[in-house]
Amino acid sequence: GSLLGVLGGGQLGAMFVTAARRLGYRTVVWDPDAQAPAHRIADRSVVRSFEDQAARTDFVRDLAAITYEWENVPAEVVLALERQTPVRPSGRILEHIQNRLVQKRFLQQRGFPVAAFREVRSFADLSAAAELGFPCLCKTATAGYDGKGQWRINDARELERLQGIVPARPEPSRAWILERHIAFDRELSVLAVRGSDGQHVVYPVVANEHEAGILRRTTVPAPLETATARRAQDLAVAVVDALSGVGVFCAELFHTPAGELLVNEVAPRPHNSGHYTLDACTVSQFEQQVRALCGLPLGEARLLSPAAMVNILGDEIVRLCRGVQLRTLLEQPGVHLHLYGKTGIRPGRKMGHITVTADTIQDAEVVAGQIARMAVDPAFLSAPDRSKI
Ligand code: ATP
Ligand code: MG
Ligand code: MG
Repeated sequence: GSLLGVLGGGQLGAMFVTAARRLGYRTVVWDPDAQAPAHRIADRSVVRSFEDQAARTDFVRDLAAITYEWENVPAEVVLALERQTPVRPSGRILEHIQNRLVQKRFLQQRGFPVAAFREVRSFADLSAAAELGFPCLCKTATAGYDGKGQWRINDARELERLQGIVPARPEPSRAWILERHIAFDRELSVLAVRGSDGQHVVYPVVANEHEAGILRRTTVPAPLETATARRAQDLAVAVVDALSGVGVFCAELFHTPAGELLVNEVAPRPHNSGHYTLDACTVSQFEQQVRALCGLPLGEARLLSPAAMVNILGDEIVRLCRGVQLRTLLEQPGVHLHLYGKTGIRPGRKMGHITVTADTIQDAEVVAGQIARMAVDPAFLSAPDRSKI
């Protein structure tokens, strides 16, 4: 089979490699971190900085097509690679997405509903932007993920504290976005896949719960009225069409008590909230990524079972994966454990996830809830107490 390249070797890169291999492709992973999980399963690895010119030549050799596993890889590198080999989604799309200001302006100009926002380059900008009202959120324009580089501002006093972060005078490469805080009743996301011929496939709407800016749990299908779910799917497809993107995209949405849907952000890649597709759909988001990248027909995005997905964060992996806990976990029907093989445990780091499939969403959520408790509370599941799960 031909050779596919992926920039970034985290869990998303690794799941891409696995899907590519299953469809008969070989892969090259480029990640500066030698411990990145995808390196271990790739056919070829490049373990050098993304800025390294020689690494670029080495990586691109014999590649049929290239993708990336997240939006924080340098756009210049993608644009340079694209002169030699097709990259999907394109470098232009990456440029539109990796800067939150550029992304939000693009969405707004195309008529998509977004939270009110202002560009911030100095503390004076920030003070002026606070006219949006409290609470609001200040986010770095670039390089954020899992809620990193974000500050919630509840009042004028908290605003003052950002003096330590946002400089008095603008600095060329630093920018922030101030957004109105949305009192959503639900966070939703929708995966939309677009092929090179403009054909698209859209997955069911999922409901997401975050803790401290990090995805904690996803349930699918989201408990919504049919018309609302349809609107969310149409919105996701329209965003991807507006970008003319080829590949897998995820639209993160806020659903407000008034029934409005706002676009929070768009990811140009498979998404954590789409991991359930590995175990609960006809074709996973990673297989779609391979199909779209290679110009193959897109697969069917049918949900085979209700599902709930829980992330395993930081040292939760230690509690869940030792002796009795692991056995108890694996005894449950419908429990699908995915460990990413990361070497270092850091607070909030995504170490793995568990998808629970069940006949009803309620059943899936009960088991997912028990797993979540078992993950945080070491006393929750002592040996004689296995009936709890
Ligand atoms: P990801 O890991 O999804 O890329 P990120 O670091 O890019 O996350 P966002 O998705 O913008 O950050 O924000 C993380 C979470 O913070 C959101 O999922 C949501 O729960 C909350 N959040 C972000 N912006 C707002 C907002 N304007 N109003 C209310 N909550 C928000
Ligand atoms: Mg993001
Ligand atoms: Mg997000």
